Amino acid sequence: MNKLNRRLFLVSGLAAGGAVAVPHFAGAAAPAPAAVRDPFNLGVASGDPRPDGMVLWTRLATAPLDIGGGMGTRTVPVEWQVATDEAFGTVVASGTESAVPADGHSVHAEPRGLPAGAEFFYRFRADGFISPVGRTRTAPAPGSTPAALTFAFASCQHFEEGWYHAHRFMAADQPDLILFLGDYMYEKASGSANRVRWYVDFDEVDALGEYRLRYAQIRTDPDIRAAHAVAPWLAVFDDHELKNNWWGVSSDAPAARKQAAFQAFWENMPLPKAMRPVNSAIPLYRRVSWGTLARFHMMDTRQYRWKQPPAGNCAEFTRTDRTLTGAAQEQWLLDGLAAGGSRWDFLGQQVFFAGRDPDGATGTCDGSTDSWEGYRASRQRITQGWVDRAVRNPVVLTGDVHRHWANNLRLNYFDQDSPYVGTELVTSSVTSGGDATETTPPQVPNNPHLYYVGNHRGYVRVRAGSGQLTAEFMKVSSVQQRSGVTNTVRNRFVVLDGEPGVRPA
Ligand code: FE
Ligand code: CA
Repeated sequence: MNKLNRRLFLVSGLAAGGAVAVPHFAGAAAPAPAAVRDPFNLGVASGDPRPDGMVLWTRLATAPLDIGGGMGTRTVPVEWQVATDEAFGTVVASGTESAVPADGHSVHAEPRGLPAGAEFFYRFRADGFISPVGRTRTAPAPGSTPAALTFAFASCQHFEEGWYHAHRFMAADQPDLILFLGDYMYEKASGSANRVRWYVDFDEVDALGEYRLRYAQIRTDPDIRAAHAVAPWLAVFDDHELKNNWWGVSSDAPAARKQAAFQAFWENMPLPKAMRPVNSAIPLYRRVSWGTLARFHMMDTRQYRWKQPPAGNCAEFTRTDRTLTGAAQEQWLLDGLAAGGSRWDFLGQQVFFAGRDPDGATGTCDGSTDSWEGYRASRQRITQGWVDRAVRNPVVLTGDVHRHWANNLRLNYFDQDSPYVGTELVTSSVTSGGDATETTPPQVPNNPHLYYVGNHRGYVRVRAGSGQLTAEFMKVSSVQQRSGVTNTVRNRFVVLDGEPGVRPA
């Protein structure tokens, strides 16, 4: 057990013993009525770090798998504290939020005025109970140049298809940041014979109470709680947080269902209050800067996309006005890239970016319709956009496909002589698909810009410095075994400053 985990254990153990007076919270702890139970069963999280603060999250549930989480209709005051040390000897910020039933008793506290580029610890108190302790940090000051940044990114974690070992290993890594790129939950039960556990509600979810219950069940897993508690997250959704392959205004994802899915996502993620859904829309795309070293453009590739083109329909595949991002987000992205001043520009997004045409023949239009391949003009405008703006190091970060990939990006994927103009790193699934055997997909021999592919579960960890970026594709030996599981670097590549594309480390 590392130091932080030990601390988490000690603090939650303390709280589990009943109501306790904690010396560093202002005033005496209000003694809890005997009937009141510990509401901190879903853990703590932080996210969207800024130079002077971040979002601190928790959600109260005395009975996570009961409808309503056991909280009833109460509004509960929740105190929060930020300290520079795990023992909370030096508290530097504190406040109180109201956990209300309309928001699933979630808390999104936003301390301000903290020093930049620093590590902090935080905790909550409600009903006389103290939450587990989380570790977080502020982003470096604008204009400052940190020596390095470490982050992990992950996606696709069907709860039923495996154990969350990857999250335990990510927590042990103690990165500065964790990016989650979509498919945090799945709307349907697994059809796999390999499922290791079952949803409480195994019907397809489409209502707020059902989406909430699904997130609550996911957070009953201690490994994912550890990953949330160890570092700030940047979370975006893909399709399954609502329904499979939904797009824009798709008629089979009506407004009420969208509103429910987005509300549950916002309630359960460490997202700022400003990102609270309004009716059936959520302002998901946003930017986070890490001094002059890195900038994360967190994208939304679902809410504004056109419908996927029909497979084989070249007129639709190549239609020049097709969009995956919508016009406003595209302009926002290109304007952000044009701002310059960042060594690494990461595009945190969901679906496969590089060309991945099965036969490498331009006239067949048989690639994945849900990925950027089905929105070629949209991909072209963005790629040409960063080339025209002389972006120093564009790196696309991707989830969705349940395989690791490392790709070299081109302006024309059907011209094998066209130069590399960027890099894509794709993380495999945390669990989705379960244990797999390594096979080479048929697209690989026809697409030489696809540099590496690995078919196993895991995540990717990145260390970005001024001269190079190192990406480690992590392999979790099994998600179906409960114990005795190993975490190994399956492959390691570097991207050199100013030289697009991956190369051996
Ligand atoms: Fe997935
Ligand atoms: Ca083709």
